[in-house]
Amino acid sequence: MSRHPASDYPAVRLKAGREKPVRQRHPWIFSGAIAAIPAKAADGAIVDVCDAHGAFLARGYLNRRSQIQVRLLTWDADEPIDAAFWRRRLQAALDLRAALPEVRGCTALRLVNAENDFLPGLTVDRLGDYLVLQAGTLAIDQRKQELATLLLELTGCQGVVERSDMAVRKLEGLSAQSGVLAGAPPPERVEVVEDGLVFAVDLLHGQKTGFYSDQRANRRRVAAYCAGKRVLNAFSYTGAFALHALRSGATHVTNLDSSLDALMLAEANLRCNGFDPDRQAENIVGDVFQVLRDWDAAGVADFDVIILDPPKFAQNQSAVERALRGYKEINRLALRLLRPGGVLATFSCSGLVSADLFQKVVFGAAVDANRATQVLETLRQSADHPVALTFPEGEYLKGLIVRIAA
Ligand code: SAH
Repeated sequence: MSRHPASDYPAVRLKAGREKPVRQRHPWIFSGAIAAIPAKAADGAIVDVCDAHGAFLARGYLNRRSQIQVRLLTWDADEPIDAAFWRRRLQAALDLRAALPEVRGCTALRLVNAENDFLPGLTVDRLGDYLVLQAGTLAIDQRKQELATLLLELTGCQGVVERSDMAVRKLEGLSAQSGVLAGAPPPERVEVVEDGLVFAVDLLHGQKTGFYSDQRANRRRVAAYCAGKRVLNAFSYTGAFALHALRSGATHVTNLDSSLDALMLAEANLRCNGFDPDRQAENIVGDVFQVLRDWDAAGVADFDVIILDPPKFAQNQSAVERALRGYKEINRLALRLLRPGGVLATFSCSGLVSADLFQKVVFGAAVDANRATQVLETLRQSADHPVALTFPEGEYLKGLIVRIAA
């Protein structure tokens, strides 16, 4: 077999024996697998990928500055990467969400989940009538304007905001960028609805894309344990778990977060959903590690349900050990602060910490806390954050609902 004669794309050649993951449709090609990159191919440009004998394997985009030098877009030699390609792929991602039972009635959802929607480097969230786009790679960054315009057309939304301020951009040689990409600028607060609850979102200044829709399914699951309970929502952000808990009959919720801005929105969210922020809730600005230690030292064990939804502790492989110690410590403290029969809903969104490893860490925390525990449920990211089976790296959010013995 020779290279497809119709292709005008420059061809990147792999080293002998390195084609297996490409054939299996893993979307990443690391520098170590590559024998030669033609000089005429510019970073960000579309390239073909061929085996050591020159036979076509796949087609993707190039960035010599990244360790992942090619990200693959298609395995079909007859599929050019043109405007029609991007339109087809975006439409397929939108069609999936339109058919997902989980997101019905929700106006905050992930529309494009990068590699997992076969669009490496591109993340798009819908928040009400606005879209938030994150360009994770150089090639997507170069095409973001065109993609934003297409997205506006396909969704009928009012505007597209860019929030490309993720740490991974540095690995691609890109700096942080945010602002309006297309359409109308969003109001200071955009309202989104999740299961009938209303949340104010700050698209330009909120964390990540402004709202954590990856926890939607888990908010439902955890809320089901909260009727008649006192709940601690640690790493609360704008209080999404808290609103679900109150709606399910929690008697009191405490939101705890280090961000004052997030807690101000949490308070506004409580009010606008008809809850009394003074009687039914408390918002505490503080470091979860410190506050839990202080409560433990003071012998306060006053919660029936504790939610731990920390940010990504392990940003890279060298940070994993430290991250594990962090997870263990907050879980140990939380288990000590629960009343007998209490429930801990604990999460990790570090892709580098597997579900297995996370469960071991929580086990270690239970041993140190000297609590008898049972796992009631295992949790994962919501269905609008699908994982391509060819891309296990896409599985990042894992959680456990654990009960301590009465
Ligand atoms: N549970 C939230 C999302 C949590 S995001 C939801 O469902 O919407 C993680 C949050 O942890 C952020 O709001 C961040 O401000 C907060 N945070 C990070 N480190 C913290 C720390 N050490 N102590 C308290 N909050 C922290």
